[in-house]
Amino acid sequence: MNDTTLGAPLSRAVLAERLATVPRVPLAATPTPLEYCPRLGEAIGGIELYVKRDDLTGLAFGGNKTRQLEYLFADVLAQGADVVVAGAYTQSNWCRQIAAAARRLGLDASLVLMHGEKGPLRQGNLLLDELLGAEVEVVALTEMAELSPLLAARAEVLRARGRHPYVVDPGALATLARSALGYVGAALELDEQLEARGLSADHLYLSGANMTPAGLALGLRALGRSTRVVGITPIRWPEPRSVDIARIASATADLLGLDVVLDPQDICNDEDYVGERYGVVSEASRAALLLAARSEGLILDPVYTSKALAGLIGHVERGLVQRGECVVFVHTGGLPALFAYAEDLLG
Ligand SMILES: *Cc1c(COP(=O)(O)O)cnc(C)c1O
Repeated sequence: MNDTTLGAPLSRAVLAERLATVPRVPLAATPTPLEYCPRLGEAIGGIELYVKRDDLTGLAFGGNKTRQLEYLFADVLAQGADVVVAGAYTQSNWCRQIAAAARRLGLDASLVLMHGEKGPLRQGNLLLDELLGAEVEVVALTEMAELSPLLAARAEVLRARGRHPYVVDPGALATLARSALGYVGAALELDEQLEARGLSADHLYLSGANMTPAGLALGLRALGRSTRVVGITPIRWPEPRSVDIARIASATADLLGLDVVLDPQDICNDEDYVGERYGVVSEASRAALLLAARSEGLILDPVYTSKALAGLIGHVERGLVQRGECVVFVHTGGLPALFAYAEDLLG
């Protein structure tokens, strides 16, 4: 069960070569900046803090999904689709970036969106979906699992209209593994940036529970780095995420023909900073958001990155991260949703 197969570390050049064997369409503005944030680092306990600005990937307000979609849309194009069907919540960053990627590649998007915390408020991501001209249907569901049949039904309607839909099933392992490749690429990019500055990261913190931590953990492991990758989950799950993240990472390794297996015990994923529930600002996340803004002029989002920073602050307080250690915080984006949350943040 727990025999972690670990091949010899690969060089960046070899890992990059492996990654280049998988079809990809460029969508993201990379490399994204790696910014030193001394004031914020000092304020949260004297850590050496660097922020990897993946909120600046460029596509319709950016975020982490853009790197993931580079691999997913290669498959969309290979299948000859002309419309992409996807779904999540009304403030979904994933769906907004899908709608934008589709446009960038001359395709349409058809979205089925669940009410979520903000309902059909025409702000933030939902506003952008409409500006991008995605076909949007808002449904009164609350569980992601209930969405799959609706996506399939939507695809049927489109087929009847003579279209060629590509359904993005957010739960399918193939979708998750392909998307995680984007964060293997990000691990390579970050590794090079750190080396160029003579740094090595002790810890890497991010908001995530799927492709992003899986790809980063796999990429850094393949390179033989000992950086501790810590995902702070934004959503409460029925089971601990480490099992699924390890499963995604291993499936991603298979796509690359890598001799690397990640076990659940290799994955740190902390569920203690969700607060009341997904999409709801917590006291700690609000404090973290204000601290980043007021110490560094760095804007975080209310649903993901502010909870991740609250997690990092909590871990420094608990001694899991020590004064003087080098920490990379990945800013995964999510900023459009900020504008749907004014009341929650300012009262
Ligand atoms: C989707 C999202 C995440 C989580 O990414 P996963 O790949 O699902 O782990 C984190 N931050 C933001 C802003 C997101 O939109």
